[in-house]
Amino acid sequence: MRPLPDVAPGVEGASVDSLLSDLQQVMDGAYQPSHPGALAHLDPPPLTASIAAELVCAGLNNNLLAEELSPGLTGLEHDLCRWFCHRIGLPRGSGGVLASGGTLSNLMALVAARAALGATHRDPVLLCSQDAHVSINKAAKVIGLADDALQRLPVATEGGLCLEALADRLRSLQAEGRPCLAVVATAGTTVRGAIDPLSDLANLCRDAEVWLHVDAAIGGVFALSSSHASLMRGMEQADSITLNPQKLLGITKASSLLLLRDRIHLRQAFSTGLPYMEAPRGMDHGGEIGLQGTRPAEILKLWLGLRQLGEAGIEATLSGALQRRAAFAALLDPGKFTLLSGDLHLLAFHANKGGIDAAGRWSEDTRQMLLSNGYMLSRPFYGDRFCLKAVFGNPHTTAQHLSDLSARLNESLAPA
Ligand SMILES: *Cc1c(COP(=O)(O)O)cnc(C)c1O
Repeated sequence: MRPLPDVAPGVEGASVDSLLSDLQQVMDGAYQPSHPGALAHLDPPPLTASIAAELVCAGLNNNLLAEELSPGLTGLEHDLCRWFCHRIGLPRGSGGVLASGGTLSNLMALVAARAALGATHRDPVLLCSQDAHVSINKAAKVIGLADDALQRLPVATEGGLCLEALADRLRSLQAEGRPCLAVVATAGTTVRGAIDPLSDLANLCRDAEVWLHVDAAIGGVFALSSSHASLMRGMEQADSITLNPQKLLGITKASSLLLLRDRIHLRQAFSTGLPYMEAPRGMDHGGEIGLQGTRPAEILKLWLGLRQLGEAGIEATLSGALQRRAAFAALLDPGKFTLLSGDLHLLAFHANKGGIDAAGRWSEDTRQMLLSNGYMLSRPFYGDRFCLKAVFGNPHTTAQHLSDLSARLNESLAPA
């Protein structure tokens, strides 16, 4: 942490020189996602085109609230959402909206599911795995569900939602006559990068006539890859999908998409009428199909960033991340570490030996040791103990970095 410049505006406006030096102080204290050792979280280095588009977006200062305040950009958002839907394999009639982060996309999806369920179905439950993201808890609170509404089910050894547990719970809910608002599947859990069995979950949900939301904030972008799209197989059967290009593709924050199998549900959930705006000529007003009112044209940096990458760049980004994870996993001494399995580009692990207290001390000491050597990992609590976690979305991390990092980790524990 570093000292901050003066907070309050001075009596007179500051000169450009002094503004720049203030800015430098703030930048010096910032997290550096472009550092090759920045491996702690799902925050990759930003793409140049995405940064430029962000500046242009600010300069245009258009408002996605209404078409007349963002002509062109409203259409661009509509069309790019449709392109994502098409690539994922959603049918005609699908569409989406951008949101300032996956928390908001998940909330909007569940509000849409609640509206689709209808008011006559009272006191519904919400089902997800124990590894689902905390934003699902937040959504349940904001929607005002009962305290026992969010029911977390166990995960199987590979980290995906246990199908038998879900089938049992759906059956018992049906027997009780209690409605289910939605099943939330996770395509890429936050600690392990595990993917719930999407196709099987979709079948269960179809049979039980329950809304399936796929929280693919982390994994959804893999649907764009020709060699790895099979990881997301089944996602195309969802009623709604959250996907965060900010987490791996290098689109500057915030960049999250909510995609709906039938986009009419967005209007049904959120439309209030905008009496002080002209009726839209083309697309829905952005403010009529989502929770946010005034909203920047975040679509610009997503669109320009993807155009800069091209299909080849998207593929290289996704494959590179998976390759770095595989290379790193192979370098860790299997006699010393237990790796928590998952399918995506993150890896959590803990020492084989020692109890819960030892795991806490080791993870804390090792994280500090790595920090002082230029590597930042995170320290999630998973199951009954602390682990270390590395995320391999950073293309500046080379094979040399991975071998140095794994050697330091292997040396952090006594021989097995
Ligand atoms: C990051 C994440 C979210 C929330 O996204 P934000 O953009 O941080 O609000 C939701 N679900 C999963 C699985 C995530 O990893």
